[in-house]
Amino acid sequence: MADTSNVLSRRNLLTGLAMAPALTAAGATASAQTQAVMTAAQQAQAALKGAKGTKLVLLGTAAGPVPGRSRQMTSHVMLSNGAAYVLDCGLGVTDQYARTGIPFGALKSIFITHHHADHNIEYGPLLIIGWIQGMRNDVRAFGPPPLRQMTDDFMRAYKTTIDFWSEDLKMKPLTSVGVTEVPVAGPVMQDDNVKVTAIVVEHPPVKPALGYRFDFKDRSIAFSGDTAPSEVVAKMAKGVDVLVHETMYVPAVETYIRAQVAKGRPVKVEDFMAHMKADHTPSEDVGRIAQEAGVKTLVLSHLTPAIESISDDTWRGPVAKYFKGEIIVGKDLMVV
Ligand SMILES: [Zn+2]
Ligand SMILES: [Zn+2]
Repeated sequence: MADTSNVLSRRNLLTGLAMAPALTAAGATASAQTQAVMTAAQQAQAALKGAKGTKLVLLGTAAGPVPGRSRQMTSHVMLSNGAAYVLDCGLGVTDQYARTGIPFGALKSIFITHHHADHNIEYGPLLIIGWIQGMRNDVRAFGPPPLRQMTDDFMRAYKTTIDFWSEDLKMKPLTSVGVTEVPVAGPVMQDDNVKVTAIVVEHPPVKPALGYRFDFKDRSIAFSGDTAPSEVVAKMAKGVDVLVHETMYVPAVETYIRAQVAKGRPVKVEDFMAHMKADHTPSEDVGRIAQEAGVKTLVLSHLTPAIESISDDTWRGPVAKYFKGEIIVGKDLMVV
């Protein structure tokens, strides 16, 4: 191990020296970003340590399967009475979960809203890395079909990797996890801490795409999932303490796609915008829905477009025209 890391660090050093002048600015940005992530992690850990009652941590708040941004793809963890419940597994979920300091042994259930990559791509890796790090073998997963087949296929694909590890470290191999498919709206599960129900939302051509409501003993938390403006979400979220709603800031989406087209992306601006409007919820509608539902706190997340140049006030403005409760602009590792 020591030899390898020496070789690696020497190579990094040599590469670093050779490229230092060209990379100084990029390096400084990267280390500032790393610093910000570590600070957010420390803040999340401190908030969870002193927490009373159920807490929600936003692990990733960006919309879309786009890598390399400062915000991670969509994922959340709820911690209640020492048990952890993960909702969605976009790229980054495993690292972000670890950064909260919640032990993998606390992970009880995983819920998937729908099978777009920004919501499910790291589901399998979370299971395997989680298992190596102490996740219980009786963790359960819930989500739209074909989640059972996807889980079994993933486990089959990684059997060799799992077997090497279990042989080496004398661990009980992870063969699969219990899966409950959720094909329709209705009750999903109930345990000592929480009752979970699902709704079917509007996110064509994905069928079904789900939203979820979690009723813990002390707190209710609802998630819109990915959806066009939906009355079903307003109904489901009636009176909840926290509604996490996907949010699209239309003017910036238009600017973004025009710039992409100018760079040669083979898509028409009108077609792209039509797709976005059929599948996602503009900020104003997020405000209307939250107001209609009468939620206490509204968390704007799954931000479209997920670019840092949009200020919190810009995100909040169109929502606040319609919603009079507390509005939180979601940030990665924020504890709500
Ligand atoms: Zn999405
Ligand atoms: Zn989606």
